Amino acid sequence: MVKKNYVLGLDIGGTNVRIGAVRDDFSMEGFEMASSVEMFGVPGGEIPALASYVEDYCGRHPRLGRPKAVSIGFPSTVDKEKRVVLSTPNLPGFNQLAVVELLQKEIGIPVYINRDVNLLMMSDIHALGLEGADIVIGCYIGTGLGNAICIGGQMLSGKNGVAGELGHVPVLGSKRVCQCGNVGCMENIASGKYLEELQEKHFPGEVISRLFETHGDSPVLREYVEYLSVAVALEINILDPDYVILGGGVLKMQDFPMELLKTFIRQHTRKPLPHDSLEIVISKQNQESGVIGAGMYAFARMREGDL
Ligand SMILES: [Zn+2]
Repeated sequence: MVKKNYVLGLDIGGTNVRIGAVRDDFSMEGFEMASSVEMFGVPGGEIPALASYVEDYCGRHPRLGRPKAVSIGFPSTVDKEKRVVLSTPNLPGFNQLAVVELLQKEIGIPVYINRDVNLLMMSDIHALGLEGADIVIGCYIGTGLGNAICIGGQMLSGKNGVAGELGHVPVLGSKRVCQCGNVGCMENIASGKYLEELQEKHFPGEVISRLFETHGDSPVLREYVEYLSVAVALEINILDPDYVILGGGVLKMQDFPMELLKTFIRQHTRKPLPHDSLEIVISKQNQESGVIGAGMYAFARMREGDL
């Protein structure tokens, strides 16, 4: 087998770590998953754990040769230079950790990091063929409310690297305390976490995965879907995007009322424009998307000569 250029893509989540070898045509092989809790169970051991995970993977796949780079998506905010993980509520051991510098020292390969939702959206833009679009926004409703914004082919980073935090836009009147510390963040009413609260309060005993299947027409869940739409429409009205990508675990639930969500989004979008030209597309997200997006990001950085 001819050894080609490849990078290792890693997608680190609160529950699982995913890894795979991504080629420069964005194909992937050797996809694997491991438990985040097991990997990062030792306080302060995050970097050695990552280093040995990478080395073990390379050892198990000797025919691939040495990767050109390692690229990692974190469920976190990441600094503007994309070298330091700032805040990771689900994996606090990474808070304020200079991952790029420390991991490069351990493994001797260029390391790139970014927040996971940016990488997920990069893979979606590729999978959906939206590369030429001027403005694309992604809203991923999972446990939280993930958001990414792509303008002119670049992921919007912001002054500090923390742009695209739609989940933490304040909602007037809400008294809920967010995990970020603020009161009344959008994520508290437009996320999977809030759906869990609704299930416990209104549908006790019901399996959450079947909530839309069994109670999709209930006023409580219709109102929840409208909350989701308010978050999405908010960003549409600010950015007038070419495309809106919708994804995340909540939207993949059995019988999730996607058409109702789209109707609510349109209802809250300014008329006549951007309403009349609104293009909503559904994410192609799967288990491998974050890994492929991480690989795409590494190739983009290497193309820029950013080693
Ligand atoms: Zn918040």
